[in-house]
Amino acid sequence: MSAKNIAIIGAGPAGLIAAERLAGAGHHVTIHERMASPARKFLLAGRGGLNLTHSEPFDAFLGRYREARDWLEPALRAFPPQALRDWADGLGAETFIGSSGRVFPRAMKASPLLRAWLGRLDGLGVRLAVGRLWIGWDAGDALSFRRANGAAEAIRPDATLLALGGASWPRLGSDGGWVPLLESRGVAVSPLRPANGGFTVAWSPLMEERFAGQPLKRIVVRFGGEEAAGEAMIDAEGIEGGAIYALSAPIREALWRDSTAEIAIDLRPDLAASELSARLARRRKGETLSNHLRKAAGLAPVAVALLREAAGPALTNEPAALAALIKAVPLRLAAPMPIARAISTAGGILRDEFDDGFMLKRLPGVFAAGEMLDWEAPTGGYLLQASFATGVAAAAGIMGWLAER
Ligand SMILES: Cc1cc2nc3c(=O)[nH]c(=O)nc-3n(C[C@H](O)[C@H](O)[C@H](O)COP(=O)(O)OP(=O)(O)OC[C@H]3O[C@@H](n4cnc5c(N)ncnc54)[C@H](O)[C@@H]3O)c2cc1C
Repeated sequence: MSAKNIAIIGAGPAGLIAAERLAGAGHHVTIHERMASPARKFLLAGRGGLNLTHSEPFDAFLGRYREARDWLEPALRAFPPQALRDWADGLGAETFIGSSGRVFPRAMKASPLLRAWLGRLDGLGVRLAVGRLWIGWDAGDALSFRRANGAAEAIRPDATLLALGGASWPRLGSDGGWVPLLESRGVAVSPLRPANGGFTVAWSPLMEERFAGQPLKRIVVRFGGEEAAGEAMIDAEGIEGGAIYALSAPIREALWRDSTAEIAIDLRPDLAASELSARLARRRKGETLSNHLRKAAGLAPVAVALLREAAGPALTNEPAALAALIKAVPLRLAAPMPIARAISTAGGILRDEFDDGFMLKRLPGVFAAGEMLDWEAPTGGYLLQASFATGVAAAAGIMGWLAER
């Protein structure tokens, strides 16, 4: 096949990996990016160690994508976690499996990997055009861009890949501004919603003022028959952190449906209620309840405050009831925190809108990949893995479509 001109819009992981595949096959690729530099969210993910993927058995891995599992499976099988690890290795970013099964580059950051990656893309002849905001199509169906200086630009590539991301952390470039652009062309988009984000709680002034910013460590959060172990962070407006994010999809849907959701927090998942109760039964005379809870149950002051928050002034002294409360502190969540604060985005282009090669059915020659598609997953490396895998699959889809024409 002769070399074609391909426009990729969005220089996140989905767009960059597609560029690598397409340029590697000999096509002329230009990546158009609104920001002054590429992959800002990828770099930010690097601040948390860059959890690239996860090492758990593949079936369990697929299950993390919930409703999107079936349609994402072919792309994830074609570019599975090991392929992502091999790819990172090939760029000098050897990976390791952490104690939780999560996979990280040894450097625990994204910048060396990104530098090597951009060098590889440059070597493949990929052009990176930064400071180009895609604003839709003009009357003649050319892709339209606005440059930072206000100048307009229009191009007509042989194929286009949209890899514009979701709408979390909009200051990094992905703000969901593409939604009306696609909807105006008849493409159905499920509303963008916060995923892996916190929830607001109507804290008492004491909780808000004294305990905001404090972590609840080694807890288990339970909701709707599911549970997640990890940490949560008390925030002035609510609660967030890994154990909350892991359940954010069912909690968000319950809030949407019932306008209310109550989680149960196990503050001592390592101890059975009977053991806790026995420890709490041995209280020294004159010891305050807070001190007793700290010493006998090993609770941090923030955990004691959470118990008081749940029970009110009538916090029981009775060991068995106290133990039961410590094992399941009820907490009513009011609403999801704004999408701008979430790690990722739920919603996006509906599966029915694109074919198996990730081409939009209503816009022949226009493909989409990454977080802008309608899937979600917890933190743990699943977000980057699916962004990469759909980028690879869309690149294959583009090549298949071009070859057929
Ligand atoms: C704080 C944080 C930490 C994270 N940590 C992890 C982690 O450890 N592991 C993990 O798996 N995931 C993590 N994620 C999620 C992960 O970074 C994203 O899922 C992933 O970057 C999505 O890739 P993408 O290519 O689809 O979109 P993005 O990375 O969002 O890239 C989209 C690009 O498109 C550009 N763009 C958008 N609109 C336009 C337009 N109109 N014109 C031109 N350009 C445009 C944007 O500027 C951006 O560069 C984290 C996210 C955050 C916010």
